Amino acid sequence: MNVLVINCGSSSLKYQLINSDSEEVLAKGLCERIGIDGRLVYQKEGLDKEITEAPMPTHKEAIQMVLDALVNPKTGAVKSLAEIDAVGHRVVHGGEKFSDSVVITEEVIAQVEECNDLAPLHNPANIIGIRACQALMPNVPMVGVFDTAFHQTMPEKARRYGFHGTSHSFVSKEAASYLGMDLNNSKIIVAHLGNGASVSAVLNGKCVDTSMGLTPLEGLVMGTRSGDIDPSIMEFIAKKENLDIDGVMNVLNKKSGVAGMSGVSSDFRDLEAAYNEGNERAIAAVEVFSYRVAKYIGAYAAAMNGVDAIAFTAGIGENTSFVREKIMAYLGYLGIKIDRVTNDKTRGVEALISTA
Ligand code: AMP
Repeated sequence: MNVLVINCGSSSLKYQLINSDSEEVLAKGLCERIGIDGRLVYQKEGLDKEITEAPMPTHKEAIQMVLDALVNPKTGAVKSLAEIDAVGHRVVHGGEKFSDSVVITEEVIAQVEECNDLAPLHNPANIIGIRACQALMPNVPMVGVFDTAFHQTMPEKARRYGFHGTSHSFVSKEAASYLGMDLNNSKIIVAHLGNGASVSAVLNGKCVDTSMGLTPLEGLVMGTRSGDIDPSIMEFIAKKENLDIDGVMNVLNKKSGVAGMSGVSSDFRDLEAAYNEGNERAIAAVEVFSYRVAKYIGAYAAAMNGVDAIAFTAGIGENTSFVREKIMAYLGYLGIKIDRVTNDKTRGVEALISTA
């Protein structure tokens, strides 16, 4: 089967066309600046990236452009849309209703809409993506894959929704397989460090705790999100800055994190440059970020009474070696020693970055 995988954000859309038998990625890319101007990045397996600037007033035009690129006679990955057998949609919040992926029906969309309040930045965009694909590919089955589903196994005492579940699930399995470990007899901590960031404790292949909670605001310090704070801070900011609750939440979601602390950027490539130039606020932001990750790893080693492997993933986890090094520097008590040479050169590929 050829499966089109869509991850629809509020102003962007990432996609991959995957042959599910061979797991080959036939084509991939993204649409950016939807509703602003519009930019399509398309890359067929083995060819260079193509970038097309074209108006994308809504997600529907964006998806239409992706489909046109996929069937382009010269650079398309398939000959016609009939070769796309199914579409998989990432859906951020499935509440308590979905503990697994489901075929999307009107009832499923209604249930996802009921969770909009819990993920106001994400769920409405996911539904727009689903609706746009339904309109353009009416007879192709659509499947919803929920960020929250993997976390439904958490014990009552740790209960929360949690996010990035597809990543934590995939990466814990991948780490066990890479290390030749039996997943059913393993203690793995996954650090998903991207613009949004979370840590999970995965015991015998099942999630037993994770750092995001009711919403994706809890836990680690993120690109623009505060992560854990003293709840009293809300009242403090409201009074000091003369803000209502929406104003305070806007500060915590969009103006905090490493962007707020550094005053430079939410993007770790910019932060690394500022760090190297000696920018004190950027240095502080990177130190706070790394320290918070290390504290969560310590907490989850305690929650599982040990840990067999720690896996880093997402944009920062996969690419930003100096942050991985900072985090690992806290973990000597677990017997972890960094292999600095391998760590420095590891970007976007699987590798063992601690010493044997
Ligand atoms: P994500 O949300 O997973 O896309 O991760 C975004 C974060 O990863 C940003 O802070 C980026 O600066 C960081 N990052 C660092 N190096 C890279 C890279 N080579 N490609 C993409 N993201 C990167």
